[in-house]
Amino acid sequence: MRKNKNLLGKWAFVNGTIYDPFKKTNIDGSILIEDGIIAAVGDIDISDAQQIDCSGQIVTSGFIDIHAHFRVPGREDKETLETGAMSAMAGGFTRVCVMPNTDPPLDTPEAIRFIKDKAESVPIQIYPIGAITIAQEGMEIAEYGEMVKEGAVALSDDGLPVENGQVLRLALEYSSMYGVPVINHAEDIPLRNGGLMNESALSTRLGLDGNPDISESVMIFRDLEIAEFVSGRIHIPHVSTKKSVDIIRQYKGKGVNVTAEVTPHHIGLTENNLINFDTNAKVAPPLRTDSDRKALIQGLKDGTITCIATDHAPHTIEDKEKDMKHAPCGMIGLESAFALSNTILQADGFSLEDVIGWLTAGPASVLEWDINAFEVGAPAEITIIDDSSTWKMSTEHIYSKSKNSPMIGMEFKGEIIMTICGDVAFGKVD
Ligand SMILES: [Zn+2]
Ligand SMILES: [Zn+2]
Repeated sequence: MRKNKNLLGKWAFVNGTIYDPFKKTNIDGSILIEDGIIAAVGDIDISDAQQIDCSGQIVTSGFIDIHAHFRVPGREDKETLETGAMSAMAGGFTRVCVMPNTDPPLDTPEAIRFIKDKAESVPIQIYPIGAITIAQEGMEIAEYGEMVKEGAVALSDDGLPVENGQVLRLALEYSSMYGVPVINHAEDIPLRNGGLMNESALSTRLGLDGNPDISESVMIFRDLEIAEFVSGRIHIPHVSTKKSVDIIRQYKGKGVNVTAEVTPHHIGLTENNLINFDTNAKVAPPLRTDSDRKALIQGLKDGTITCIATDHAPHTIEDKEKDMKHAPCGMIGLESAFALSNTILQADGFSLEDVIGWLTAGPASVLEWDINAFEVGAPAEITIIDDSSTWKMSTEHIYSKSKNSPMIGMEFKGEIIMTICGDVAFGKVD
């Protein structure tokens, strides 16, 4: 059971391996925080501080999730900023960007301010993403300048694609003026054709309508053509297919300003997770084949894909108890993101440091954040990992208000022991 612990006063994290994922270096010694602020790092005097023993553990920078749905405002029965923050900290995240497909959508400066104000009461940093179009209707672009001024860090109509190419062109042109990326949920709706899972021999066998891989790659191709034409800055969310990775690689090679993310579930699961008609494995874009999964990992390896992002999408039990056709798309992911990614990627020859990089330096580069890890004078953002721990996920590991995860019952290598945001620690604390 994870709990909150108040870290007012002086606390030292001792005996751990301190890893800075931005500089890719280890730091010998300890980290001292005072009232939630980093006071000293390295070979330091900690004699008057209370100590947290991190023997055998990795002490690193807090994870950043650039793609989550916290459902505020409008669906607080699925998630609130408070439960979302706990879910994030259980998974090692200290910063989360929240998507604007709420009710109403975050499509005005007032809506962005509303989230920023509300987020002040939670320990993690929450960064709202503003809508690309008014009411996310795909027609008229929103007031980017004012939204960015209020704290929007990117623009997206996520949940839905911007179908109109001219609207996407305008979005890319205007967003460039404010220095934020456009994130287009890449699924061509007519080509998706109401598909409930990946279109394949398996979808035919299961009798479920298929969503072909080209519904994604066709739209990514269009988006990159437009981004190249107007010199825009585009970020591709939840890449799911080999064809998409190949296209992104090609445009990146041409110098287009593109970054991309992959979810833990698209590198860890496949369409086979739908065999038992588990609606928790119904996501958009859908889980694909094993060859797609491998291509996504190759994309991370060669830098075509910049980072891992959760697409944490909470839904109520009632919603997910519907049949495959009527259940909504999405799964939660904050609690399992590190462990699933770490398990899959280490089995594939990657290091713990690689995985940490895709959850810290990777997402920071998408947003062009210049982060100085463990900077003296800055609020603590620290994640402590036990890489030797193996554990089986159950509902008791979930702090989200929703429990829609196909990862329940899966065995993982690597566990988040504690996450520290300022003077709040959350995790396995005394
Ligand atoms: Zn999406
Ligand atoms: Zn999403």
